[in-house]
This record gives sequence, C-alpha cells and structure tokens, in this order.
Amino acid sequence: MVNQIKSPLAESPVIEEDSQKIVKIRHTCAHILAMAVQNLFPETKVAIGPWTETGFYYDFDRPTPFTPEDLEKIAAEMGRIIGKNLPIIREVLERSEIAAEIERLNQPYKKLILERIPPDETITRYFIGSPDAGRSDREPSLIDGAVSPPEEFWWDLCAGPHLNSTGEINPDAFALESVAGAYWQGDEKQPQLQRIYGTAWQTPAELQNYLQQKEEAQRRDHRKLGQQLKLFSIQEDAGGGLVFWHPRGATMRYLIEDYWRQAHLEAGYQFLYTPHLANLDLWKTSGHWDFYRDNMFEAIELEQQSYQIKPMNCPFHVLTYQNDLHSYREFPLRWAELGTVYRYERSGVLHGLMRVRGFTQDDAHIFCLPEQIAAEILGVLNLTEKILSDFGFTNYEVNLSTRPSKSVGSDSVWELATAALIEALNAKKWDYIEDQGGGAFYGPKIDIKIQDAIGRMWQCSTIQVDFNLPERFDMQYVARDGTRERPIMIHRAIFGSLERFFGILIENYAGDFPLWLAPIQVRLLPVSDEQHHYALEVAVQLKQAGYRVEIDKSGERLGKQIRTGELEKIPVLAVIGKREVSSKTLSVRTRQGGDLGSMTLADLLEKMQTAILSKTNL
Ligand code: ZN
Repeated sequence: MVNQIKSPLAESPVIEEDSQKIVKIRHTCAHILAMAVQNLFPETKVAIGPWTETGFYYDFDRPTPFTPEDLEKIAAEMGRIIGKNLPIIREVLERSEIAAEIERLNQPYKKLILERIPPDETITRYFIGSPDAGRSDREPSLIDGAVSPPEEFWWDLCAGPHLNSTGEINPDAFALESVAGAYWQGDEKQPQLQRIYGTAWQTPAELQNYLQQKEEAQRRDHRKLGQQLKLFSIQEDAGGGLVFWHPRGATMRYLIEDYWRQAHLEAGYQFLYTPHLANLDLWKTSGHWDFYRDNMFEAIELEQQSYQIKPMNCPFHVLTYQNDLHSYREFPLRWAELGTVYRYERSGVLHGLMRVRGFTQDDAHIFCLPEQIAAEILGVLNLTEKILSDFGFTNYEVNLSTRPSKSVGSDSVWELATAALIEALNAKKWDYIEDQGGGAFYGPKIDIKIQDAIGRMWQCSTIQVDFNLPERFDMQYVARDGTRERPIMIHRAIFGSLERFFGILIENYAGDFPLWLAPIQVRLLPVSDEQHHYALEVAVQLKQAGYRVEIDKSGERLGKQIRTGELEKIPVLAVIGKREVSSKTLSVRTRQGGDLGSMTLADLLEKMQTAILSKTNL
C-alpha cells in the first residue's frame, strides 16, 4: 500500500490552489469519460465516477466488455470533447425534477445515488455543453449520443467542483489506463460493473513522469520478481494471503532475522517465543475479542474450550510478565519476538506480500517506569535508524499522533508520555509531523514511513505507549517504596511485518540485492566439463570464506549460463575456462560493475568483503 507524503508544505496557499485545480481536472475528466462512453456506446448505464490520487475512474454497466481498442476510441472521443472547449455549467435542481429525469432516462444507478443524498442537501448537476441548447429543442439526456454539434451536451448528478470548460484540460496530459471489474458499492452481492481507470495531470510532462514512475513500479513488482528470482509464492490452493518462502527467499529471511537478532541483543533486548493460539478468555481480557473480532479467525473448539489463533503477540508478553512479580530494579525490560500472527483480511484486498493473512511481526514490548519512557523511546529510535539504514532506507517521514477525544488513561499520564515522545524526537533531532488527536485510544504513538528508491513512502515502524493493557491485566511492579504500581508498556515494531518488509526490499532494490543479502552471492560458470574440478575447488574456498556459492551445472553454453545468471540477478558471475584454470584466475562479471575482467580468487574475496561491510555491491 503506497502512502502519500503528508508534507507541511501542503498547507501553503499556492499548493492548495494547485491541488484544487488538479482535483477539478480529474473530476472533470471522469465526466468527459462518461460522456465519451455514452456517445460511443449509448446503451451503457453510468454508475459513479470520482477523482483519485493519480486520476479518475468511472463505473459502467454494459453487457459487452470494453476492449483495449474501445479504450483507444474512448480516449480519442474524450480528446474531441476537450478540443471543442464545451462550457461546464452547474445547475441547482429540485429533487423531484431531477428524479423524474433520471427515471425517464432509465439510469438505475443514478436513481440510487439520488436516493442516498440527504433530504436537506442541495441537488446539483453539471452540464458539459449548454443546458439551454438542450432545453430549446429537446430535454437534456444522459444518453444523448445522437446529439450532434453544436447542441451536444451531457450532464451528471454531481456536487462538483469542476473546471469552467473542457478546454481547460490539456489534451496531452490525460490517458486511459485500464478496465477492471468493480462491484456496485464495492459489494460482491451487487451487480458487477466495468471500471475504466484514467490518469490526468496539469501538464504533459507531469503525465510522462507519472507513466514512467508507474512503469518503474511495475518493473519492480515484488510479485513478478518473487517468481522470477524464486523467492516466494502464495499458494491459492492453501488459501489466499498465506506466504510460502522458497529456499532463496528463506535464505534471505534467515539473514534478515539473524541481523535483527544481533542488533536487538546489542540494544539490550531479550527474546521470547510464545504460542500461536490461546484460550478465548485471554482475548476477552485483552479486549481484542470486543474491539478486534472482525480481524480474527474463527475460534477453534476443543474439549469444551475455545481457542483463538493470535492476531497479536501483546497479551502473550503480558502473560509472560505476569508469571513473576517484578521490581523497579529490573526495569526497563525489553522483550522481543518474531511473532507470527494471523488476521482475517477480505480476499479482495489481499496483495502479494503487502497485504496477507499470516505474517511475522518483529514485535517487542518494553516495560518501564514513567521516568524511563523518553530514554526508551530514544533507544527505539536509534535502533530503528540503524536497522532501516542498513537495509538501504535513509529517508523517513515521522508522525507523532496525540490523544484522541475518546481515550483511556489520566490526563497526567497522557501528558507525561506525549512529552516523553517529543523529548525523544527532539533528542534525535528528527523533524516530525504532529497528528493531533490521531493517537490510539490507549496511548500516543510515533509512526515512521520509509522512502524507497523511486520515492514511494511505506509505513513500517511504529512505537506506541499503552495505558490500556497494563490496566486490563492488572499488571504491577514493586516500586522503590515497596508499593505496587502499574508499569508503562510500550509496543514497537521496526519492520512491521517481515513479509511486507521483504516485499518492500524486493521493490526497493528491484531484486538486485546488496551482496550481504543476496541469497546466492556467487555463481561459478564452467565453460565445459573439463573445468568442473577447478570450479569445485574455488567453490569450496568461497564457502569456507562464508559465501553462498553455486556452480552452474546446466551444461549449457556459456552465453546461456550468463543470461540465466543475469535473469536471476546473481551479484557475481565468475567464468572458468581453460585460460582461468591454467592461470588460477576467475573471469568476473558483476550486476553493478559489469565485466571486471580476470582476477585471482584473493582479489575477488577482497572486493566482496568491501561490499559486504558497506552493505552494497561490487
Ligand atoms: Zn504489542
């Protein structure tokens, strides 16, 4: 899921005016699209057509599917309508008047839309072309394909806003993108419609930029690369949204987890392992049963008990805490777990590794004293920065979300925790955007989005203070004066989900992983069977030096071996022919550096060591 940068700049008046303009362009394009469709295919029923983050769409009900050729014709017709520079006119109407027209035109979806508008709201419609031209000799029609210039017009039930005329759209700054199935009101039980997607911008340069970005994103699509690089699969037979890590992907996961564990040990964490399910009562105590049930899988009944698969790890960490009476002297406790959770997501929203039903959180909970919050948060920020930058992410957007109107916990504890989060952010010298009232009901939080190689933002890390669970579970510690007090609980995750983070990594690197993460670091390519023995010797030495190495045993010609290695994005391909055997060298080709020529194994090891240490490639 791609997130938009919420820049403070967005509040400046110039940009606001611009964003108004682009909204009008996109919204008007949606109308022109529907007008063009009805001009060309008068039998079509029109449903709804909003603007989007990058353009617009319109939903149509038509028995025949739109073909790519149809889209071309529709785009050309849109260009013609834009070229005519038809006026766009807003008209306020009586509800009964417009209802009668919609009825007469037999547009069932518009009828439903009209019925949904609250009774006290003004009903407006927008004409493309002149309504007067329409009234003089005929009544306006939604399906007025037969009308020829200059009287042509079309209207839509709409609250606006729109441009003043179609000519305000640059005819070279819009494009139709695709057709997809969509249900009326997003409900599978409702009729299926055809949704035509388009994109629209102020200038042709902006359109080109967007199309290039889109192509780049498609080239990096983790679902495609995941298959091509043999990293993972989602087996529909096993149920949607469940990830299978294949050997190469699993190697990477092992490396990621190993790195993660080491970083956490150095930061003073201890590890937990907790079960995958627990008695339903636990989820009632934690509140998940009341507030999170829609995202939980059905409970399993066993021996008159209900067991619930975990959607979160938190209650398990609380139970672990509750097993002993803790003292303030032990604080802070930092407990981390790579905890696999299961959450119910509708099949329609599942998306590769980005939105799944089973995933592993790099979860941790910190239990501490109120006066330790700021230092603990700063510690988490430092660890987050170290980990994210080692995976190639150095640009962040940081959000601080504060107390919402409905919340648990006293004023003083909210103030204390919020001040501690701000103190930590200031100590870190990180700029942040404050989302006032955007916190969870149980405490304030910091969210961190990372920017990938093509400028997209991804929400990954989160740090949340929780006043709710310690209360619900009656958690205690022995304070300095011997009294029993409630500990502060902090939830935090850095990757968020290993699966999703893996998807982001694949797209960020476009599958060209840095050497330390590449599942196969070196592949040896013997030119013929004669070189196999030497290849084996080299492979043993590379393995002993700790590298992941393979010999191409396909028996294919060298050209084919090289192409396969490139397709699989192996960072280092080392060719071994007669010459290399006799001179005890390797002919090295790398993904990033190209053909490096011949070198000794010692030279190659040195170059690889440098790349490993800098977490880059050679
Ligand atoms: Zn938690």
